[in-house]
Amino acid sequence: VSSRRRKIVAGNWKMNKTVPEALALVRELRGAVTSVGDVVEVVVAPTYLALQAVHVALEGAPLQLAAQNCHWESSGAFTGEVSAPMLAELGCAYVIVGHSERRQLFGETDETVNKKAKAVLAAKMTPILCVGETLAEREANRTLEVVERQVRGGLEGFEAKDVASFVLAYEPVWAIGTGRNATSAQAQEVHAAIRALVGRLYGEETAAQVRIQYGGSVKPDNAAELLGQPDVDGALVGGASLKVGDFAAIIQAAR
Ligand code: PGA
Repeated sequence: VSSRRRKIVAGNWKMNKTVPEALALVRELRGAVTSVGDVVEVVVAPTYLALQAVHVALEGAPLQLAAQNCHWESSGAFTGEVSAPMLAELGCAYVIVGHSERRQLFGETDETVNKKAKAVLAAKMTPILCVGETLAEREANRTLEVVERQVRGGLEGFEAKDVASFVLAYEPVWAIGTGRNATSAQAQEVHAAIRALVGRLYGEETAAQVRIQYGGSVKPDNAAELLGQPDVDGALVGGASLKVGDFAAIIQAAR
């Protein structure tokens, strides 16, 4: 089953890289990913500010563009926000929704994440929907309960055919930016549980198609092991995506 899913490696640049720095990074990356484009889908998520320039710089390259967030309304009096149709128009194929930093620092809830995912789909892009437990939740043995609630909430109201095209990202909060990645067994356990839940909610066919990335301290030296798990269909990479050599090595590990 897993062989039917194309691996997807995405670089979440977070609030890093000025526009000139983003351009320099993506130009270097273009050279590094030419040979893997058909085997692995590669995505970069710069800041809003750099999307336009990076889109131009990516032309003809086997790299897709993602935004890190969006608002759920398409336009209007929402000072400081950016809508999904605006991102689609700039060439974004994906939008990350529900990243734990957005949930923890910017008050996002399963409900707002769900609205954002709907806006992303309505604008003909694909959500990368992030879920994951905190350390306290893991230590209280609540990991699966929390992740399942987030998946149910995020996917509420979608049809099976939509969900089949989505990317889910399992990102344990305690592993993000800490250098402490989940073990491959921990990742596989949660990925399998997420896929089983998608199966119960949307059917086996949808569960077999939905791609589930792992995120949280993915590095060149742990990527092959994590990406070798049957239900790990890719990686959402923060810190290591800012260094071309590291990101390229992670992409190679996904082959
Ligand atoms: P990290 O971040 O790779 O720096 O841990 C991952 C993420 O937040 O997507």
